[in-house]
Amino acid sequence: MSFSRGPKEPLPKVDTNVWACTNDDCNGWMRESLSFEKDPECPLCKSEMKQEVRVLPELE
Ligand SMILES: [Zn+2]
Repeated sequence: MSFSRGPKEPLPKVDTNVWACTNDDCNGWMRESLSFEKDPECPLCKSEMKQEVRVLPELE
């Protein structure tokens, strides 16, 4: 019996720093590594964003 790998391996998940919207009614967030601003505002509702760590698929 051999272990065969499928063509699509799931991406490994890693702890990722993100900016998350502080507005409870909004789900806006972005990866810190994709944000060039020091203090970004939410692209959806323009609220402040706070830093957070989420487990997300690794980016190459
Ligand atoms: Zn927002």
